[in-house]
Amino acid sequence: MAANGERKTVAPDQRCAIGLTFGNSYSSIACTIDDSAVVIANEDGDRQIPTVLSYVDGEEYVGNQAKAFLVRNANNTLVSFRDFLGQDFKSIDPTHCHAAAHPQDASDSVAFSVQDKAEGDASTLSVSEVATRYIRRLVQSASDYLGKQVTSAVLTIPTNFTDKQCEALIQAANNADLEVLQLIKEPVADVLAYDARPEAILEDKNIVVADLGGSRSDVAVVASRGGMYTILATAHDYEFAGVHLDKVLMDHFAKEFMKKNKDVDPRENARSLAKLKAESESAKKALSIGTNASFSVESLAEGIDFQTTINRLRYETVARNVLGGINRLIEGVVKSAGLDVLDIDEVILSGGTSHTPKIAANMRNIFPESTQIQAPSTNPSAINPSELQARGAALQASLIQEYETEDVDQSTHPAVTTVAHITNAIGIVSVGHDGEGFSLSSPPETAVPARRTIHINGPKEGGDVLIKVIEGNTHIKVTKPEPKPEKKDEEKDEEDSDFSDEEEEEDKREKVWKSGETLAEAAVRGLKKGSKVEVTVNVAADLGVTITAREVGGKGGVRGNIAA
Ligand code: ATP
Ligand code: MG
Repeated sequence: MAANGERKTVAPDQRCAIGLTFGNSYSSIACTIDDSAVVIANEDGDRQIPTVLSYVDGEEYVGNQAKAFLVRNANNTLVSFRDFLGQDFKSIDPTHCHAAAHPQDASDSVAFSVQDKAEGDASTLSVSEVATRYIRRLVQSASDYLGKQVTSAVLTIPTNFTDKQCEALIQAANNADLEVLQLIKEPVADVLAYDARPEAILEDKNIVVADLGGSRSDVAVVASRGGMYTILATAHDYEFAGVHLDKVLMDHFAKEFMKKNKDVDPRENARSLAKLKAESESAKKALSIGTNASFSVESLAEGIDFQTTINRLRYETVARNVLGGINRLIEGVVKSAGLDVLDIDEVILSGGTSHTPKIAANMRNIFPESTQIQAPSTNPSAINPSELQARGAALQASLIQEYETEDVDQSTHPAVTTVAHITNAIGIVSVGHDGEGFSLSSPPETAVPARRTIHINGPKEGGDVLIKVIEGNTHIKVTKPEPKPEKKDEEKDEEDSDFSDEEEEEDKREKVWKSGETLAEAAVRGLKKGSKVEVTVNVAADLGVTITAREVGGKGGVRGNIAA
Protein backbone atom coordinates (compact mmCIF):
# COMPACT_ATOMS: atom_id res chain seq x y z
CA MET A 1 0.00 0.00 0.00
CA ALA A 2 1.35 3.43 -0.86
CA ALA A 3 1.80 5.78 2.06
CA ASN A 4 -0.49 8.77 2.06
CA GLY A 5 0.66 11.45 -0.35
CA GLU A 6 3.36 9.28 -1.85
CA ARG A 7 2.86 8.17 -5.42
CA LYS A 8 3.23 4.59 -6.45
CA THR A 9 5.66 4.25 -9.33
CA VAL A 10 6.75 1.25 -11.34
CA ALA A 11 9.89 0.99 -13.45
CA PRO A 12 9.02 1.16 -17.17
CA ASP A 13 10.33 -2.34 -17.90
CA GLN A 14 8.19 -3.80 -15.12
CA ARG A 15 4.96 -2.25 -16.26
CA CYS A 16 1.80 -3.80 -17.58
CA ALA A 17 -0.49 -0.90 -18.38
CA ILE A 18 -4.18 -0.57 -19.17
CA GLY A 19 -6.71 2.20 -19.77
CA LEU A 20 -9.37 2.54 -17.11
CA THR A 21 -12.60 4.49 -17.06
CA PHE A 22 -14.14 4.62 -13.65
CA GLY A 23 -17.59 6.20 -13.95
CA ASN A 24 -20.30 6.77 -11.37
CA SER A 25 -22.56 4.29 -13.14
CA TYR A 26 -20.31 2.00 -15.19
CA SER A 27 -16.60 1.39 -15.61
CA SER A 28 -14.47 -0.18 -18.33
CA ILE A 29 -10.98 -1.54 -18.71
CA ALA A 30 -9.05 -1.67 -21.98
CA CYS A 31 -5.67 -2.69 -23.27
CA THR A 32 -3.93 -2.45 -26.61
CA ILE A 33 -3.20 -5.42 -28.81
CA ASP A 34 -1.00 -4.67 -31.83
CA ASP A 35 -1.60 -0.93 -31.37
CA SER A 36 -5.35 -1.20 -31.44
CA ALA A 37 -7.45 -0.80 -28.32
CA VAL A 38 -9.59 -3.61 -26.98
CA VAL A 39 -12.12 -3.34 -24.19
CA ILE A 40 -11.81 -6.25 -21.78
CA ALA A 41 -14.78 -8.29 -20.54
CA ASN A 42 -14.76 -9.22 -16.87
CA GLU A 43 -15.44 -12.73 -15.55
CA ASP A 44 -19.20 -12.20 -16.06
CA GLY A 45 -18.59 -11.32 -19.70
CA ASP A 46 -19.39 -7.62 -19.18
CA ARG A 47 -17.50 -4.81 -20.88
CA GLN A 48 -19.58 -2.15 -19.18
CA ILE A 49 -19.14 -3.06 -15.57
CA PRO A 50 -21.61 -1.43 -13.18
CA THR A 51 -19.76 0.67 -10.60
CA VAL A 52 -21.35 -1.24 -7.76
CA LEU A 53 -20.02 -3.27 -4.82
CA SER A 54 -22.26 -5.35 -2.59
CA TYR A 55 -21.55 -7.37 0.54
CA VAL A 56 -23.52 -10.48 1.39
CA ASP A 57 -22.46 -12.75 4.26
CA GLY A 58 -18.98 -11.28 4.19
CA GLU A 59 -18.62 -11.96 0.48
CA GLU A 60 -17.83 -9.08 -1.91
CA TYR A 61 -19.75 -8.86 -5.20
CA VAL A 62 -18.98 -6.47 -8.03
CA GLY A 63 -20.57 -5.23 -11.26
CA ASN A 64 -23.83 -6.72 -12.47
CA GLN A 65 -23.87 -9.31 -9.68
CA ALA A 66 -23.66 -6.53 -7.11
CA LYS A 67 -26.23 -4.40 -8.93
CA ALA A 68 -28.77 -7.23 -8.72
CA PHE A 69 -28.51 -7.00 -4.91
CA LEU A 70 -30.09 -3.54 -5.00
CA VAL A 71 -33.40 -5.38 -4.73
CA ARG A 72 -32.79 -7.35 -1.55
CA ASN A 73 -29.57 -6.05 0.00
CA ALA A 74 -29.73 -2.32 -0.76
CA ASN A 75 -28.19 -1.17 2.53
CA ASN A 76 -24.99 -3.11 1.91
CA THR A 77 -24.74 -2.13 -1.75
CA LEU A 78 -22.52 0.78 -2.74
CA VAL A 79 -23.35 2.80 -5.85
CA SER A 80 -22.50 6.11 -7.53
CA PHE A 81 -19.48 6.94 -5.36
CA ARG A 82 -16.85 8.07 -7.90
CA ASP A 83 -17.75 11.77 -7.74
CA PHE A 84 -17.58 11.74 -3.92
CA LEU A 85 -13.80 11.21 -3.98
CA GLY A 86 -12.00 14.27 -2.65
CA GLN A 87 -15.23 16.07 -1.82
CA ASP A 88 -16.63 17.40 1.45
CA PHE A 89 -19.80 15.73 2.61
CA LYS A 90 -21.51 19.13 2.37
CA SER A 91 -20.84 19.47 -1.34
CA ILE A 92 -21.96 16.06 -2.58
CA ASP A 93 -25.26 15.18 -4.20
CA PRO A 94 -26.42 11.95 -2.50
CA THR A 95 -29.53 11.55 -4.71
CA HIS A 96 -28.28 8.50 -6.61
CA CYS A 97 -27.54 6.61 -3.38
CA HIS A 98 -31.14 6.97 -2.25
CA ALA A 99 -31.97 3.27 -2.69
CA ALA A 100 -28.52 1.97 -1.68
CA ALA A 101 -25.99 2.48 1.14
CA HIS A 102 -26.25 6.12 2.25
CA PRO A 103 -23.24 8.40 2.25
CA GLN A 104 -22.35 9.79 5.67
CA ASP A 105 -20.35 12.72 6.96
CA ALA A 106 -16.93 11.51 8.11
CA SER A 107 -15.03 14.58 9.34
CA ASP A 108 -15.80 16.45 6.12
CA SER A 109 -15.17 13.59 3.74
CA VAL A 110 -17.66 10.89 2.78
CA ALA A 111 -18.06 7.39 4.21
CA PHE A 112 -20.53 4.50 4.10
CA SER A 113 -21.59 2.08 6.77
CA VAL A 114 -21.96 -1.48 5.46
CA GLN A 115 -21.98 -4.99 6.87
CA ASP A 116 -18.95 -6.20 4.91
CA LYS A 117 -18.02 -9.08 7.20
CA ALA A 118 -19.98 -12.25 7.95
CA GLU A 119 -20.11 -11.45 11.65
CA GLY A 120 -19.80 -8.51 13.99
CA ASP A 121 -20.69 -4.85 13.56
CA ALA A 122 -21.01 -2.94 10.35
CA SER A 123 -17.83 -1.24 9.09
CA THR A 124 -17.47 2.40 8.23
CA LEU A 125 -15.72 2.60 4.89
CA SER A 126 -14.34 5.89 3.58
CA VAL A 127 -15.22 6.62 -0.03
CA SER A 128 -11.52 6.27 -0.77
CA GLU A 129 -11.55 2.74 0.63
CA VAL A 130 -14.68 1.89 -1.39
CA ALA A 131 -13.04 3.20 -4.58
CA THR A 132 -9.87 1.25 -3.80
CA ARG A 133 -11.82 -1.98 -3.34
CA TYR A 134 -13.69 -1.41 -6.58
CA ILE A 135 -10.57 -0.51 -8.60
CA ARG A 136 -8.83 -3.58 -7.18
CA ARG A 137 -11.59 -5.75 -8.68
CA LEU A 138 -11.25 -4.06 -12.08
CA VAL A 139 -7.49 -4.55 -12.01
CA GLN A 140 -8.01 -8.19 -11.06
CA SER A 141 -10.34 -8.72 -14.04
CA ALA A 142 -7.82 -7.10 -16.39
CA SER A 143 -4.95 -9.15 -14.93
CA ASP A 144 -6.95 -12.38 -15.34
CA TYR A 145 -7.67 -11.51 -18.94
CA LEU A 146 -4.09 -10.58 -19.77
CA GLY A 147 -2.57 -13.46 -17.83
CA LYS A 148 -0.21 -11.12 -15.97
CA GLN A 149 -0.47 -8.65 -13.16
CA VAL A 150 -1.58 -5.19 -14.29
CA THR A 151 0.59 -2.60 -12.57
CA SER A 152 -0.31 0.71 -14.15
CA ALA A 153 -3.08 2.64 -15.83
CA VAL A 154 -4.15 5.83 -17.53
CA LEU A 155 -7.42 6.93 -15.94
CA THR A 156 -10.01 9.28 -17.38
CA ILE A 157 -11.52 12.17 -15.43
CA PRO A 158 -14.29 14.68 -16.11
CA THR A 159 -13.07 18.14 -17.19
CA ASN A 160 -14.36 19.69 -13.97
CA PHE A 161 -12.56 17.37 -11.53
CA THR A 162 -10.76 19.53 -8.98
CA ASP A 163 -7.12 18.97 -8.00
CA LYS A 164 -8.40 17.48 -4.76
CA GLN A 165 -10.60 15.00 -6.61
CA CYS A 166 -7.70 14.05 -8.91
CA GLU A 167 -5.43 13.56 -5.92
CA ALA A 168 -8.05 11.41 -4.18
CA LEU A 169 -8.51 9.30 -7.30
CA ILE A 170 -4.76 8.72 -7.67
CA GLN A 171 -4.53 7.81 -3.99
CA ALA A 172 -7.44 5.36 -4.25
CA ALA A 173 -5.81 3.71 -7.28
CA ASN A 174 -2.40 3.60 -5.61
CA ASN A 175 -3.96 1.95 -2.56
CA ALA A 176 -5.26 -0.74 -4.91
CA ASP A 177 -1.61 -1.21 -5.91
CA LEU A 178 -2.14 0.49 -9.25
CA GLU A 179 0.28 3.08 -10.58
CA VAL A 180 -1.43 6.04 -12.25
CA LEU A 181 0.58 6.90 -15.34
CA GLN A 182 -1.59 9.87 -16.19
CA LEU A 183 -5.07 11.27 -15.76
CA ILE A 184 -6.56 12.36 -19.05
CA LYS A 185 -9.73 14.32 -19.57
CA GLU A 186 -12.67 12.30 -20.78
CA PRO A 187 -13.35 14.28 -23.99
CA VAL A 188 -9.67 14.02 -24.91
CA ALA A 189 -9.84 10.24 -24.45
CA ASP A 190 -12.88 10.20 -26.75
CA VAL A 191 -11.10 12.19 -29.46
CA LEU A 192 -7.96 10.04 -29.10
CA ALA A 193 -9.99 6.88 -29.66
CA TYR A 194 -11.35 8.29 -32.93
CA ASP A 195 -8.08 9.84 -34.10
CA ALA A 196 -6.19 6.57 -33.53
CA ARG A 197 -8.16 4.73 -36.19
CA PRO A 198 -6.01 3.96 -39.20
CA GLU A 199 -8.52 5.62 -41.51
CA ALA A 200 -8.61 8.84 -39.46
CA ILE A 201 -7.59 11.97 -41.32
CA LEU A 202 -5.84 14.27 -38.91
CA GLU A 203 -6.91 17.65 -40.13
CA ASP A 204 -7.65 20.80 -38.16
CA LYS A 205 -11.18 20.57 -36.89
CA ASN A 206 -13.61 21.67 -34.20
CA ILE A 207 -15.22 18.81 -32.33
CA VAL A 208 -18.11 18.68 -29.90
CA VAL A 209 -17.76 15.78 -27.50
CA ALA A 210 -21.00 14.97 -25.73
CA ASP A 211 -20.38 12.47 -22.94
CA LEU A 212 -23.83 11.40 -21.87
CA GLY A 213 -23.58 9.09 -18.88
CA GLY A 214 -25.83 7.74 -16.17
CA SER A 215 -25.85 10.52 -13.60
CA ARG A 216 -24.22 13.35 -15.55
CA SER A 217 -23.86 14.78 -19.01
CA ASP A 218 -20.59 16.52 -19.83
CA VAL A 219 -20.03 18.36 -23.06
CA ALA A 220 -16.82 19.87 -24.38
CA VAL A 221 -15.82 21.75 -27.50
CA VAL A 222 -12.38 20.64 -28.56
CA ALA A 223 -10.21 22.33 -31.17
CA SER A 224 -7.86 19.89 -32.88
CA ARG A 225 -4.97 21.70 -34.56
CA GLY A 226 -1.98 19.87 -35.91
CA GLY A 227 -2.49 16.96 -33.50
CA MET A 228 -2.90 19.22 -30.46
CA TYR A 229 -6.18 19.34 -28.61
CA THR A 230 -7.45 22.45 -26.88
CA ILE A 231 -10.63 22.48 -24.84
CA LEU A 232 -12.49 25.67 -25.75
CA ALA A 233 -15.56 25.31 -23.56
CA THR A 234 -17.23 22.80 -21.28
CA ALA A 235 -20.66 22.31 -19.74
CA HIS A 236 -21.82 19.91 -17.07
CA ASP A 237 -25.33 18.87 -16.30
CA TYR A 238 -26.82 16.61 -13.66
CA GLU A 239 -30.51 16.86 -14.61
CA PHE A 240 -30.52 15.37 -18.09
CA ALA A 241 -28.72 12.01 -18.13
CA GLY A 242 -29.35 8.26 -18.23
CA VAL A 243 -31.03 7.92 -14.83
CA HIS A 244 -33.51 10.62 -15.84
CA LEU A 245 -34.45 8.55 -18.86
CA ASP A 246 -34.88 5.56 -16.52
CA LYS A 247 -37.09 7.71 -14.34
CA VAL A 248 -39.52 8.66 -17.14
CA LEU A 249 -39.85 4.98 -18.00
CA MET A 250 -40.34 4.05 -14.34
CA ASP A 251 -43.18 6.58 -14.10
CA HIS A 252 -44.64 5.35 -17.36
CA PHE A 253 -44.64 1.68 -16.33
CA ALA A 254 -45.83 2.48 -12.79
CA LYS A 255 -48.84 4.31 -14.22
CA GLU A 256 -49.60 1.41 -16.55
CA PHE A 257 -49.43 -0.96 -13.61
CA MET A 258 -51.74 1.27 -11.58
CA LYS A 259 -54.30 1.32 -14.37
CA LYS A 260 -54.71 -2.42 -13.84
CA ASN A 261 -54.06 -2.51 -10.12
CA LYS A 262 -55.75 0.46 -8.53
CA ASP A 263 -54.01 1.99 -5.52
CA VAL A 264 -50.88 -0.13 -5.82
CA ASP A 265 -47.97 2.17 -6.69
CA PRO A 266 -44.77 0.16 -7.18
CA ARG A 267 -42.78 3.33 -6.49
CA GLU A 268 -43.86 3.39 -2.86
CA ASN A 269 -42.11 0.24 -1.75
CA ALA A 270 -38.32 0.02 -1.81
CA ARG A 271 -38.11 -3.48 -3.32
CA SER A 272 -40.74 -2.78 -5.96
CA LEU A 273 -38.98 0.45 -6.82
CA ALA A 274 -35.66 -1.37 -7.26
CA LYS A 275 -37.27 -3.94 -9.58
CA LEU A 276 -39.06 -1.21 -11.51
CA LYS A 277 -35.80 0.67 -11.94
CA ALA A 278 -33.74 -2.31 -13.09
CA GLU A 279 -36.33 -3.40 -15.65
CA SER A 280 -36.87 0.17 -16.89
CA GLU A 281 -33.15 0.51 -17.56
CA SER A 282 -33.21 -2.77 -19.52
CA ALA A 283 -36.21 -1.61 -21.56
CA LYS A 284 -34.45 1.69 -22.27
CA LYS A 285 -31.37 -0.12 -23.59
CA ALA A 286 -33.53 -2.45 -25.70
CA LEU A 287 -35.19 0.62 -27.25
CA SER A 288 -31.81 1.76 -28.55
CA ILE A 289 -31.62 -1.35 -30.71
CA GLY A 290 -35.21 -2.25 -31.49
CA THR A 291 -38.34 -0.20 -31.99
CA ASN A 292 -40.17 -2.18 -29.30
CA ALA A 293 -39.21 -3.37 -25.85
CA SER A 294 -40.88 -5.62 -23.37
CA PHE A 295 -41.13 -4.95 -19.67
CA SER A 296 -41.66 -7.95 -17.48
CA VAL A 297 -41.26 -8.25 -13.71
CA GLU A 298 -42.31 -11.10 -11.50
CA SER A 299 -44.02 -9.93 -8.36
CA LEU A 300 -43.56 -6.23 -9.10
CA ALA A 301 -45.68 -5.15 -6.14
CA GLU A 302 -47.86 -7.01 -3.66
CA GLY A 303 -47.06 -10.27 -5.39
CA ILE A 304 -48.53 -9.12 -8.71
CA ASP A 305 -46.57 -9.98 -11.86
CA PHE A 306 -46.50 -7.34 -14.57
CA GLN A 307 -45.85 -7.56 -18.28
CA THR A 308 -46.20 -4.92 -20.94
CA THR A 309 -44.45 -3.48 -23.97
CA ILE A 310 -43.47 -0.02 -25.12
CA ASN A 311 -42.53 1.25 -28.54
CA ARG A 312 -39.80 3.71 -29.34
CA LEU A 313 -42.11 6.52 -30.34
CA ARG A 314 -43.96 6.35 -27.04
CA TYR A 315 -40.63 6.33 -25.21
CA GLU A 316 -39.38 9.35 -27.11
CA THR A 317 -42.60 11.16 -26.26
CA VAL A 318 -42.42 10.50 -22.53
CA ALA A 319 -38.70 11.33 -22.58
CA ARG A 320 -38.97 14.55 -24.56
CA ASN A 321 -38.08 16.87 -21.67
CA VAL A 322 -34.86 15.03 -20.92
CA LEU A 323 -33.98 14.76 -24.61
CA GLY A 324 -34.70 18.48 -25.07
CA GLY A 325 -32.45 19.28 -22.12
CA ILE A 326 -29.60 17.38 -23.74
CA ASN A 327 -30.10 19.35 -26.98
CA ARG A 328 -29.99 22.67 -25.14
CA LEU A 329 -26.90 21.66 -23.22
CA ILE A 330 -25.03 20.87 -26.42
CA GLU A 331 -26.21 23.97 -28.28
CA GLY A 332 -25.28 26.09 -25.27
CA VAL A 333 -21.69 24.92 -25.07
CA VAL A 334 -21.11 25.62 -28.77
CA LYS A 335 -22.23 29.19 -28.08
CA SER A 336 -20.11 29.54 -24.98
CA ALA A 337 -17.09 28.52 -27.08
CA GLY A 338 -17.90 31.53 -29.23
CA LEU A 339 -18.76 29.28 -32.14
CA ASP A 340 -21.73 28.53 -34.32
CA VAL A 341 -23.00 25.07 -35.24
CA LEU A 342 -21.57 25.78 -38.71
CA ASP A 343 -18.08 25.85 -37.16
CA ILE A 344 -18.38 22.29 -35.85
CA ASP A 345 -16.84 19.60 -38.05
CA GLU A 346 -17.62 16.62 -35.91
CA VAL A 347 -19.87 15.64 -33.01
CA ILE A 348 -18.65 12.67 -30.99
CA LEU A 349 -21.37 11.05 -28.94
CA SER A 350 -19.83 9.22 -26.01
CA GLY A 351 -21.14 7.52 -22.86
CA GLY A 352 -23.87 4.90 -22.53
CA THR A 353 -26.80 7.26 -23.09
CA SER A 354 -25.35 8.15 -26.50
CA HIS A 355 -26.69 4.83 -27.82
CA THR A 356 -30.13 6.48 -27.83
CA PRO A 357 -31.07 6.88 -31.52
CA LYS A 358 -33.21 9.96 -30.91
CA ILE A 359 -30.25 11.85 -29.43
CA ALA A 360 -28.16 11.21 -32.53
CA ALA A 361 -31.12 12.16 -34.74
CA ASN A 362 -31.49 15.43 -32.82
CA MET A 363 -27.81 16.19 -33.38
CA ARG A 364 -28.30 15.49 -37.08
CA ASN A 365 -31.01 18.18 -37.08
CA ILE A 366 -29.14 20.73 -34.99
CA PHE A 367 -25.86 20.59 -36.89
CA PRO A 368 -25.42 21.25 -40.61
CA GLU A 369 -25.05 18.41 -43.07
CA SER A 370 -21.30 18.96 -43.25
CA THR A 371 -20.92 18.00 -39.58
CA GLN A 372 -20.13 14.33 -39.00
CA ILE A 373 -22.24 12.86 -36.24
CA GLN A 374 -20.33 10.00 -34.65
CA ALA A 375 -23.00 7.76 -33.14
CA PRO A 376 -24.02 4.18 -33.87
CA SER A 377 -27.41 5.10 -35.32
CA THR A 378 -26.13 7.81 -37.69
CA ASN A 379 -22.81 6.30 -38.71
CA PRO A 380 -22.28 2.54 -38.98
CA SER A 381 -18.52 2.97 -38.54
CA ALA A 382 -18.89 4.92 -35.29
CA ILE A 383 -17.10 3.41 -32.29
CA ASN A 384 -19.29 2.03 -29.49
CA PRO A 385 -19.88 5.15 -27.34
CA SER A 386 -19.62 3.07 -24.16
CA GLU A 387 -16.09 1.99 -25.10
CA LEU A 388 -14.57 5.24 -26.34
CA GLN A 389 -13.00 6.51 -23.15
CA ALA A 390 -11.46 3.25 -22.05
CA ARG A 391 -10.04 2.80 -25.54
CA GLY A 392 -8.59 6.32 -25.57
CA ALA A 393 -7.05 5.75 -22.16
CA ALA A 394 -5.54 2.41 -23.27
CA LEU A 395 -4.01 4.02 -26.36
CA GLN A 396 -2.54 6.77 -24.24
CA ALA A 397 -1.21 4.17 -21.77
CA SER A 398 0.55 2.28 -24.52
CA LEU A 399 2.13 5.52 -25.74
CA ILE A 400 3.54 6.59 -22.43
CA GLN A 401 4.25 3.38 -20.54
CA GLU A 402 7.88 3.36 -21.66
CA TYR A 403 8.60 6.67 -19.95
CA GLU A 404 9.75 7.14 -16.39
CA THR A 405 6.81 8.43 -14.36
CA GLU A 406 8.45 11.81 -13.77
CA ASP A 407 8.99 12.21 -17.52
CA VAL A 408 5.34 11.77 -18.29
CA ASP A 409 4.95 15.47 -18.73
CA GLN A 410 1.49 16.51 -19.81
CA SER A 411 2.87 18.97 -22.34
CA THR A 412 4.81 16.42 -24.39
CA HIS A 413 1.83 14.23 -25.15
CA PRO A 414 -1.28 14.55 -27.22
CA ALA A 415 -3.39 14.76 -24.11
CA VAL A 416 -2.47 18.41 -23.84
CA THR A 417 -5.59 20.29 -23.06
CA THR A 418 -4.59 23.75 -22.02
CA VAL A 419 -2.09 25.32 -24.32
CA ALA A 420 -1.83 28.90 -25.51
CA HIS A 421 -3.68 29.48 -28.73
CA ILE A 422 -4.48 32.34 -31.05
CA THR A 423 -8.01 33.62 -30.73
CA ASN A 424 -8.32 35.01 -34.20
CA ALA A 425 -7.43 33.37 -37.45
CA ILE A 426 -4.49 34.58 -39.49
CA GLY A 427 -5.02 35.00 -43.20
CA ILE A 428 -2.92 36.14 -46.11
CA VAL A 429 -4.11 38.58 -48.75
CA SER A 430 -2.03 39.04 -51.87
CA VAL A 431 -2.54 42.11 -53.99
CA GLY A 432 -1.12 42.03 -57.50
CA HIS A 433 -2.14 43.93 -60.60
CA ASP A 434 -4.60 41.20 -61.54
CA GLY A 435 -6.55 41.46 -58.30
CA GLU A 436 -6.66 40.24 -54.73
CA GLY A 437 -6.35 36.69 -53.50
CA PHE A 438 -7.06 35.31 -50.06
CA SER A 439 -5.76 32.27 -48.21
CA LEU A 440 -6.25 31.15 -44.63
CA SER A 441 -3.00 30.45 -42.84
CA SER A 442 -4.05 29.45 -39.34
CA PRO A 443 -7.62 28.98 -38.22
CA PRO A 444 -8.66 30.38 -34.84
CA GLU A 445 -7.72 28.36 -31.73
CA THR A 446 -4.55 27.12 -33.38
CA ALA A 447 -2.23 26.11 -30.58
CA VAL A 448 1.04 28.01 -30.46
CA PRO A 449 3.88 27.81 -31.29
CA ALA A 450 2.59 27.22 -34.80
CA ARG A 451 4.26 27.49 -38.16
CA ARG A 452 2.29 27.44 -41.37
CA THR A 453 3.55 27.81 -44.91
CA ILE A 454 1.31 28.54 -47.83
CA HIS A 455 1.91 29.11 -51.51
CA ILE A 456 0.17 31.92 -53.33
CA ASN A 457 0.05 32.37 -57.07
CA GLY A 458 1.86 35.49 -58.22
CA PRO A 459 0.41 37.77 -60.91
CA LYS A 460 0.00 35.86 -64.20
CA GLU A 461 2.38 38.11 -66.07
CA GLY A 462 4.86 38.44 -63.21
CA GLY A 463 5.74 41.70 -61.50
CA ASP A 464 5.23 42.87 -57.95
CA VAL A 465 2.89 41.53 -55.33
CA LEU A 466 1.91 42.95 -51.98
CA ILE A 467 1.43 40.37 -49.25
CA LYS A 468 -0.74 41.41 -46.32
CA VAL A 469 -0.94 39.27 -43.22
CA ILE A 470 -4.21 39.96 -41.53
CA GLU A 471 -5.94 38.86 -38.43
CA GLY A 472 -9.55 38.06 -38.85
CA ASN A 473 -12.31 35.69 -38.16
CA THR A 474 -15.23 34.05 -39.76
CA HIS A 475 -18.72 35.20 -39.09
CA ILE A 476 -22.06 33.84 -40.03
CA LYS A 477 -23.73 35.51 -42.94
CA VAL A 478 -27.48 35.13 -43.02
CA THR A 479 -29.13 35.54 -46.39
CA LYS A 480 -32.87 35.92 -46.53
CA PRO A 481 -34.44 33.86 -49.28
CA GLU A 482 -34.94 35.76 -52.55
CA PRO A 483 -38.24 37.61 -52.38
CA LYS A 484 -40.70 36.30 -54.92
CA PRO A 485 -41.36 38.73 -57.78
CA GLU A 486 -44.10 41.28 -57.02
CA LYS A 487 -47.47 40.00 -57.98
CA LYS A 488 -50.43 41.90 -59.27
CA ASP A 489 -52.97 42.85 -56.60
CA GLU A 490 -55.60 40.30 -57.52
CA GLU A 491 -53.06 37.46 -57.60
CA LYS A 492 -51.82 38.54 -54.17
CA ASP A 493 -55.29 38.20 -52.67
CA GLU A 494 -55.73 34.76 -54.10
CA GLU A 495 -52.43 33.61 -52.74
CA ASP A 496 -52.84 35.01 -49.27
CA SER A 497 -53.34 31.56 -47.86
CA ASP A 498 -49.99 30.43 -49.23
CA PHE A 499 -48.21 33.36 -47.69
CA SER A 500 -47.24 31.53 -44.53
CA ASP A 501 -45.49 28.84 -46.58
CA GLU A 502 -43.22 31.40 -48.15
CA GLU A 503 -42.42 32.88 -44.77
CA GLU A 504 -41.20 29.50 -43.60
CA GLU A 505 -38.52 29.27 -46.24
CA GLU A 506 -35.32 29.08 -44.23
CA ASP A 507 -32.64 31.74 -44.12
CA LYS A 508 -29.39 30.63 -45.68
CA ARG A 509 -26.60 30.63 -43.14
CA GLU A 510 -22.98 30.41 -44.22
CA LYS A 511 -19.55 31.15 -42.83
CA VAL A 512 -17.73 34.07 -44.40
CA TRP A 513 -14.30 35.50 -43.68
CA LYS A 514 -14.16 38.92 -42.11
CA SER A 515 -10.80 40.68 -42.18
CA GLY A 516 -9.57 42.47 -39.11
CA GLU A 517 -6.37 44.32 -38.43
CA THR A 518 -3.44 44.03 -40.84
CA LEU A 519 -0.53 42.55 -38.93
CA ALA A 520 2.15 43.06 -41.55
CA GLU A 521 2.68 43.93 -45.17
CA ALA A 522 5.52 42.93 -47.42
CA ALA A 523 6.18 43.56 -51.06
CA VAL A 524 7.82 40.87 -53.16
CA ARG A 525 9.11 42.49 -56.30
CA GLY A 526 10.03 41.41 -59.77
CA LEU A 527 8.33 38.00 -59.77
CA LYS A 528 8.80 35.88 -62.84
CA LYS A 529 5.84 35.02 -65.03
CA GLY A 530 3.69 32.28 -63.44
CA SER A 531 5.71 32.06 -60.26
CA LYS A 532 4.47 31.46 -56.76
CA VAL A 533 5.15 33.24 -53.51
CA GLU A 534 5.81 31.23 -50.39
CA VAL A 535 4.59 32.87 -47.20
CA THR A 536 5.53 31.43 -43.84
CA VAL A 537 3.77 32.63 -40.72
CA ASN A 538 5.37 31.63 -37.47
CA VAL A 539 3.48 32.32 -34.25
CA ALA A 540 5.74 31.90 -31.22
CA ALA A 541 4.60 30.66 -27.83
CA ASP A 542 4.46 34.28 -26.63
CA LEU A 543 2.19 35.02 -29.63
CA GLY A 544 4.88 37.09 -31.38
CA VAL A 545 4.59 36.63 -35.14
CA THR A 546 7.37 36.26 -37.71
CA ILE A 547 6.51 36.37 -41.37
CA THR A 548 8.68 35.56 -44.34
CA ALA A 549 7.69 35.91 -47.97
CA ARG A 550 9.79 34.88 -50.93
CA GLU A 551 9.44 33.80 -54.48
CA VAL A 552 9.43 30.01 -54.74
CA GLY A 553 12.77 29.02 -56.23
CA GLY A 554 13.96 32.62 -56.05
CA LYS A 555 16.64 34.10 -53.88
CA GLY A 556 16.21 36.41 -50.91
CA GLY A 557 12.84 37.40 -49.63
CA VAL A 558 11.33 39.62 -47.02
CA ARG A 559 11.11 38.89 -43.33
CA GLY A 560 9.33 40.77 -40.59
CA ASN A 561 8.68 40.39 -36.89
CA ILE A 562 5.73 41.53 -34.90
CA ALA A 563 6.08 41.55 -31.14
CA ALA A 564 3.46 39.72 -29.13
P1 ATP B 1 -22.00 8.78 -14.84
O1 ATP B 1 -20.62 8.94 -14.31
O2 ATP B 1 -22.55 9.95 -15.58
O3 ATP B 1 -22.98 8.31 -13.80
P2 ATP B 1 -20.85 6.69 -16.43
O4 ATP B 1 -19.85 7.48 -17.14
O5 ATP B 1 -20.41 5.85 -15.31
O6 ATP B 1 -22.02 7.63 -15.91
P3 ATP B 1 -21.82 5.46 -18.92
O7 ATP B 1 -21.51 4.03 -19.15
O8 ATP B 1 -21.20 6.46 -19.79
O9 ATP B 1 -21.63 5.69 -17.39
O10 ATP B 1 -23.41 5.66 -19.06
C1 ATP B 1 -24.28 4.91 -18.31
C2 ATP B 1 -25.70 5.23 -18.74
O11 ATP B 1 -25.88 4.83 -20.09
C3 ATP B 1 -26.73 4.47 -17.92
O12 ATP B 1 -27.82 5.32 -17.63
C4 ATP B 1 -27.15 3.36 -18.87
O13 ATP B 1 -28.47 2.93 -18.63
C5 ATP B 1 -27.06 4.05 -20.19
N1 ATP B 1 -26.92 3.11 -21.30
C6 ATP B 1 -26.01 2.13 -21.46
N2 ATP B 1 -26.22 1.46 -22.60
C7 ATP B 1 -27.30 2.04 -23.19
C8 ATP B 1 -28.02 1.80 -24.39
N3 ATP B 1 -27.67 0.80 -25.22
N4 ATP B 1 -29.06 2.62 -24.70
C9 ATP B 1 -29.42 3.62 -23.86
N5 ATP B 1 -28.79 3.88 -22.71
C10 ATP B 1 -27.75 3.10 -22.37
MG1 MG C 1 -18.83 9.00 -17.85
